[in-house]
Amino acid sequence: MTDKNLEQALDILKDRGIRITPQRKVILEYLVTQHNHPSVEQIFNGIKDGSVDLGIATVYNTLQILVAQKLVIELSNGDDGKMRYDYFGIPHYHAICLNCGKITDIFTELTFHEAEREAEQKSGYLIESTHVETHGYCPECQINLGLTKINK
Ligand code: ZN
Ligand code: MN
Repeated sequence: MTDKNLEQALDILKDRGIRITPQRKVILEYLVTQHNHPSVEQIFNGIKDGSVDLGIATVYNTLQILVAQKLVIELSNGDDGKMRYDYFGIPHYHAICLNCGKITDIFTELTFHEAEREAEQKSGYLIESTHVETHGYCPECQINLGLTKINK
């Protein structure tokens, strides 16, 4: 499934005439296979198999291309205030912990497509993408902070 996602993402880039360098491929592969919402530094440090010659500027530039192509999204909610990156070939939304900044993927049956159509009708905007964030406290922080979920 992961290989299929990578193949699919590479095909999209090829179709759009974007050159697939070994560096771009290895960065995309990292994002498709890791679900840790990494920062630029984490991606750079995470790719250390020595198979490609990689600099942090290349990581940064490649991310800008992937974000522009909407294969990757940028998240500004990292616990250290740094941008995080996320493969977005499979649309999903995020639950973000208000205490530790942890970002958890939420895959949903709901399609963003309907919400986008509604937004277009009500606002007249030409909607390009949708990104949903929900905020709260992760299970670990609930325990650490002594928070009890209030059942309604
Ligand atoms: Zn937390
Ligand atoms: Mn995600």
